[in-house]
Amino acid sequence: MEFISKRSRYVVNPLEEEDAIAEKLRKRGKEVIELNRGDPPVYFKTPKYIIEAYVSALKESKTHYVASAGVYELRNAVAKRYKRMYNIGVDEDSIIVTQGVSEAIQFINAAMINPGEKAILFKPYYPIYIPYLLNYGGIPLFEKYSERLKWNIDTDSLEKTIKKEASKRPKYMLITNPNNPTGTVLDKKVLKEIVELANEYDIFLISDEIYDEIVFNGAKFTSIGELAKGMPHMILNGASKDFDATGFRIGFAIIPENDKKSRQIKHAILQYAQARLSANAPAQYAVAEAMNNVKEHNASIRAMVKEIESRVNFATKLVNESGYLTAIEPNSAFYLFPRINKNILKIKDDREFVKRLLIEQQVQLARGSGFGEEGYVRIVALAEKEILSLAINKINEFCKQHSVKR
Ligand code: PLP
Repeated sequence: MEFISKRSRYVVNPLEEEDAIAEKLRKRGKEVIELNRGDPPVYFKTPKYIIEAYVSALKESKTHYVASAGVYELRNAVAKRYKRMYNIGVDEDSIIVTQGVSEAIQFINAAMINPGEKAILFKPYYPIYIPYLLNYGGIPLFEKYSERLKWNIDTDSLEKTIKKEASKRPKYMLITNPNNPTGTVLDKKVLKEIVELANEYDIFLISDEIYDEIVFNGAKFTSIGELAKGMPHMILNGASKDFDATGFRIGFAIIPENDKKSRQIKHAILQYAQARLSANAPAQYAVAEAMNNVKEHNASIRAMVKEIESRVNFATKLVNESGYLTAIEPNSAFYLFPRINKNILKIKDDREFVKRLLIEQQVQLARGSGFGEEGYVRIVALAEKEILSLAINKINEFCKQHSVKR
């Protein structure tokens, strides 16, 4: 009998799998440029007014367990934010605060999935969607964000897949908008079609919108909540990216409607939330204040997004100039997801690319296959331009060394 459960092998994090090699290189005195982690506060300090709100919460001894659904102050701030930004009416009881969107993903699968049941996901996916689904015996049904459609969804193909599955209807469909790893906002027209399909085939629709304010290059973001009024759906968001506070571990699930399915999922998720008592208490009070301080928030997010836009565009141009990698121009988040032009490189796959790049040039990226899409790499473009430039020059040098034309 094996000591460790079989399901434990599902939990892999492709963003960190080269960490041991990077650590060895550092021990040997090499400097590693890490472009593998999407962690904004490493590059843009969490705004001072948010830190001060956290410190105040600590000074006021808000260090105890709080309501499992989240403190009222934060749920109220989230409700006001959705009304203000998207004209979505949601009451505080329809919001559950979690330890990051990551925990919400875990709760969703625990609450909905019985062994053998399916869920529709899209490749390339955010990696942690998969292990939690598999843990509960769920089966992913993959559709695609299509590079040909500038990383939008081919809704004809989606409809065909859903029709094929009509007799054993998938439990939920989960989209990521804006997207990690592609850095793309989904078109409103595509979103409308997705909403119609979910409605017609009675599939619970979930939209992970954790990058909703990090949108640029003229793109326009639409929340699923604006389009899915009157049908069961869920929005996921949190403080990690928009509020530049990944380490606070604050996320939330919003289930705006009150139909039977929505009521059931709210209840089930709340039970899981109760089982873990509560999310980080002082951070909840801090995020509530941060969200209500619209003036300070707008000033900080605007400055951060302007800088991110500039860095992402800078990196995209440099990457595309080389000809070894080809990236669709991103318009959100802070990722590039270029294709490796394997026909001109003597590299077997993205795993080999990432590993050898790290060993030979000390630049750490994440492999596309970790997001379900072999033949790509994900580059995080949060670092200063000098670092991005240095790293991309090293990537180009690496490609040159492994070029078939050499
Ligand atoms: N969802 C997406 C699409 C992400 O890119 C990330 C983090 O990179 C998360 C969720 C995790 O968010 P949290 O920090 O709220 O757990």
